[in-house]
Amino acid sequence: MKKTRKIYQLKLITHKTISDAEKAVAKIVCAQVTKNKKSILSLATGGTFVNVYKYIVQSANKHKIDFQNIKTFNLDEYANLDKRFISESYHSYMHNNLFKHLNINAKNTHFPPAINPTSYDKAIDKAGGIDLQLLGIGHNGHIAFNEPGSLLTSKTRKINLTKDTIKANSRFFDNNTSNVPKQAVTMGLATILKAKKHILLATGQAKAAAIKKLLLNKYDPRYPCTALVYCPNVEIHIDESIRVS
Ligand code: PGA
Repeated sequence: MKKTRKIYQLKLITHKTISDAEKAVAKIVCAQVTKNKKSILSLATGGTFVNVYKYIVQSANKHKIDFQNIKTFNLDEYANLDKRFISESYHSYMHNNLFKHLNINAKNTHFPPAINPTSYDKAIDKAGGIDLQLLGIGHNGHIAFNEPGSLLTSKTRKINLTKDTIKANSRFFDNNTSNVPKQAVTMGLATILKAKKHILLATGQAKAAAIKKLLLNKYDPRYPCTALVYCPNVEIHIDESIRVS
């Protein structure tokens, strides 16, 4: 029997500047960790989150926020990354932008594995489920690397990146699309939807089209981000350059 899903109203929060939006998301993460020192966080990468992590580190140092018992599950990782670009792996990104600056325990940080990807879903469930899910968004409406057409029931899996995504990410690979990995391992939409709270951050005019689709508050499989309408506790943080009306 087909499952009927309840649709929730997405909450939009518009900030004056990009850095206001980044700071607001950093503050939410810090508040979560302060409230529950054993929180399970799911973390995003990409250009959007670099400053968010910078602000988290600043705040963690200033307020002595304890990350020792925090567990993290990253959204995605490239598959078959050329050794020349190893610094572009999401492992490196997280280490350099966040983990090495915090007292987080390396064994509590997780990335989706290329072998037996669905073991990741089981590991998340075993840890107690995700308390706070951070999300960026692709120009094509992807969340994590769930590209258009991804199923609502999809779990962590290896996927082929679309041309759009390869082009968008080529800026991290000497602006050459042939250097960009063609595959990645990503948490699935079903995995992401299970989180207790979702914070999506989109900054800059280039994300406007995807955000507009999301704000129609209607599920459309061509825009995987719209799956978030099935989650009760979603905040979308944008800056004013994203004109949504
Ligand atoms: P970006 O990537 O932050 O580098 O724009 C976001 C995404 O593709 O999800």
